Amino acid sequence: MRVPERTDITIIGAGPIGCYTAWMLSKKGFSVGLLEEHPEVGRPEQCAGLVNRSMFDLPELDKVIDRVRLNDITGADIYSPGGKYLNLRANKVKAISMDRARFDKVLLKNAADAGTETLLSVKAIGIDRRNDGGFDVNFRGLSGEGIIKTRILIGCDGASSSIRRYLGLEKPFSIIPGAAFQVEIDEGSVPDDIVAVFTGEETAKGFFAWAVPAGTRTSMRIGLAAEDGNSLRKGWTNLPHDARLAEWLGLDGDRTAHTSEISFNIGIVPMGSPRTIISGNALILGDSAGMAKPTSGGGIYPGLLAVNDLVRSVDKACDISPDALELFRSSWLSGYGKELSRSRFFRKLISQVKDEEVEEVVKRLSDPELMEIINREGDIDHPLRLALLLIRKEPSLLKLIPRFLPMMRNIV
Ligand SMILES: Cc1cc2nc3c(=O)[nH]c(=O)nc-3n(C[C@H](O)[C@H](O)[C@H](O)COP(=O)(O)OP(=O)(O)OC[C@H]3O[C@@H](n4cnc5c(N)ncnc54)[C@H](O)[C@@H]3O)c2cc1C
Repeated sequence: MRVPERTDITIIGAGPIGCYTAWMLSKKGFSVGLLEEHPEVGRPEQCAGLVNRSMFDLPELDKVIDRVRLNDITGADIYSPGGKYLNLRANKVKAISMDRARFDKVLLKNAADAGTETLLSVKAIGIDRRNDGGFDVNFRGLSGEGIIKTRILIGCDGASSSIRRYLGLEKPFSIIPGAAFQVEIDEGSVPDDIVAVFTGEETAKGFFAWAVPAGTRTSMRIGLAAEDGNSLRKGWTNLPHDARLAEWLGLDGDRTAHTSEISFNIGIVPMGSPRTIISGNALILGDSAGMAKPTSGGGIYPGLLAVNDLVRSVDKACDISPDALELFRSSWLSGYGKELSRSRFFRKLISQVKDEEVEEVVKRLSDPELMEIINREGDIDHPLRLALLLIRKEPSLLKLIPRFLPMMRNIV
């Protein structure tokens, strides 16, 4: 392992966002150092691996899709707490179930091929701001401690980011816990192009649970996020025995799915980006900057989109400089960043919906005309757009939960 003494850019954290940032900025000719505290990237795998198909339209990712794709997803079964469901079916691929660990590894390999110096088992343990605006990054690795001098520092070190703390930046508005299982089933069959979403306070209070196919008819990833640790624990105990999951697998009656656990991981999902994500010649991206979607917890696409905005700003400013960071800030805040902050209000509404209200909403959305709009326009990364289209078509939907009416003005 060669430790660079000096870099243009040092990135902390080799998750998907750190690796993609390193790849794209190395391609521009900058010297990039990437530090990762684990010996291997992509582990532990705290992810359902479900991403929007359009994510692979981002620069260079078309070369990655075939190496990580497990299933093309064209539909979703959204279950109410009582077991009613909406069968959403599109006539095109809407999402991809991917091998998340492999995704991180492929991005890292591409970054290394483009010139990124990657240091595994190396943890950033502090930073010092220099008078010239750059940073000394203090790290600890297997062979001791050291310092890398860098012009620009980028924190991609996840939801509990220490770089964010060292820079004195605010935390995301809130975080919620999530759990992810990779399992094999003994009976039934995992639908290969459909995901399932399970709602209800006993399953995933304040959020939802999911089942996602993982390549074969017997493998799937199930998981959930919930508003607090107790609800999460209750949910992960109940989910494998959920009758709705058994039904989704094609098992009759009150059967329970028999699952063998391959892996189980717990993580956290940040909700709501802080107001400031830049401090001098440093910035935070991805989960460290709270860039996950408050409505679904998906953080890979928004983080990669932010990297793309950053790279375009660097192109415009002809360097990675405070000017480029300022350009990035305004383009992010007026673009997808705006969608994320509006979604925060939407999430607040969703988290307060009671089980009986979900039953009513599912019943109303089963209307064939509304289903047609959902199937045509549904997009896991733009739920607000869909919600507004539905309300425009059927304004009476607004009255389904009258206590939400005053809050709607923050969204519409
Ligand atoms: C249960 C669960 C399911 C999810 N499912 C999905 C999904 O289906 N689709 C989706 O889009 N998103 C999903 N997410 C969210 C997604 O996993 C994250 O948004 C994504 O991993 C964020 O990437 P990142 O690179 O910003 O951070 P991370 O993936 O968290 O990577 C941060 C990296 O920084 C390293 N690091 C931290 N501190 C240091 C340090 N001091 N020095 C060196 N290295 C450091 C860590 O080891 C880690 O490798 C899920 C999250 C959870 C919890």
